[in-house]
Amino acid sequence: MRLLEFQAKEVLSSYGFQIPHGVLIKKGETIPDVKLPCVLKVQIPAGGRGKSGGILFADTEEELKKRIDELFSKRVRGFPVHYILAEEKLNIASEYFISFIIDNSRRKEILIFSDKGGVDIEEVSRTEPDRVKSVVIKPFIGLQDYEVREVLSELSITGKRLLTLTGVIQKLYEVFHSLDATILEINPLVETEDGKFYIADVHFEIEDEALPRHPELKKFTSGFEEYIGFRPMTEIEKKAREIDAMDHRGVAGRFIEFDGNLGLLIGGGGASLTVFDAIRRYGGNPANYCEIGGNPSVKKVAELTKLLLSKPGVERIAVIMNVVSNTRVDLVARGVIKGILESGKDPSKVISVFRIPGAWEDEGIKILEKYGVRYLTREYSLDDAAKIAVGG
Ligand code: GDP
Ligand code: MN
Repeated sequence: MRLLEFQAKEVLSSYGFQIPHGVLIKKGETIPDVKLPCVLKVQIPAGGRGKSGGILFADTEEELKKRIDELFSKRVRGFPVHYILAEEKLNIASEYFISFIIDNSRRKEILIFSDKGGVDIEEVSRTEPDRVKSVVIKPFIGLQDYEVREVLSELSITGKRLLTLTGVIQKLYEVFHSLDATILEINPLVETEDGKFYIADVHFEIEDEALPRHPELKKFTSGFEEYIGFRPMTEIEKKAREIDAMDHRGVAGRFIEFDGNLGLLIGGGGASLTVFDAIRRYGGNPANYCEIGGNPSVKKVAELTKLLLSKPGVERIAVIMNVVSNTRVDLVARGVIKGILESGKDPSKVISVFRIPGAWEDEGIKILEKYGVRYLTREYSLDDAAKIAVGG
């Protein structure tokens, strides 16, 4: 779950961080009192607003009204604007970049810090790599004060500033870690001319699977829940999500609709991206991208199959996964066959290829054979399967 900036700031404020004073303006509602001069910030689930015209300033009442109208009437980075956060304008002396993320390759939390905040950090690490520092955080031990101070010292930050920043960084780490965040990025942390530190912008995402552990976050809805990227979800995508939520078992319904005619039921992660690309390369035209795996129930797979076949123009589907140990082949086979039969169709005609080698494979094959479905064993690569799926 990605919190919008004003929501993330509400959370951080409850932990005692200094946040610029602000009010939320909702589209279509009367404008509350705003202290001038102010900065107006569109609330969308994306960064880079400054560069895209989503951050404006207002010094007078007249400007305020004009800018608010302007922001509500446009899309910023593809997103419509439902909310604007109006905040007191800070007198910036310095801007810092602080980010906690999970480094998936190391499987560890890391801190990234730069004394050149407020701008695109990728750009800074390209042009001035010495200004971007990172710490790989030790599991179970956590971030140590000396590790933070070392990084700050390397950037010539000393004295009171060093102590204050160390405190802010440590407290942010506590929030990041305890709320099961996948990213907590402050860009910028602003130091004002009078030496105060403010969280001026924040990108905060919580691991969805951990949300049941944080009921206090339940109230946050951004209005973008039914979006995929910056477009609203389609009806089929919404239904797929409902199917996935039918029970807790496995994944069956992480779904993105495309305008092609070949339905895809493919395993998760990198393999499914590879399969998707291969199908396109062989001239196929996917109707969707859809991940399944981790032993979804037969019912979920069947419902998903029916959903796929309900899309106009979709006559054939391809079922392709890498070698699986966490998904029973027979369950998927049974679900797919059930879905096709319940759609009133013939499995041997609908399934262009079925390639899932792995657990309970023999049972799966028996089911497929019974219905005359073409299946591939692991002797055939994902690439082979993609080629066959499009008639090659
Ligand atoms: P982003 O572009 O989506 O990351 O939005 P930010 O909230 O980070 O704003 C972009 C930039 O606008 C910041 O890095 C600042 O340079 C500037 N900015 C934002 N708020 C203020 C403010 O209160 N005062 C001043 N002077 N500049 C601000
Ligand atoms: Mn920012």
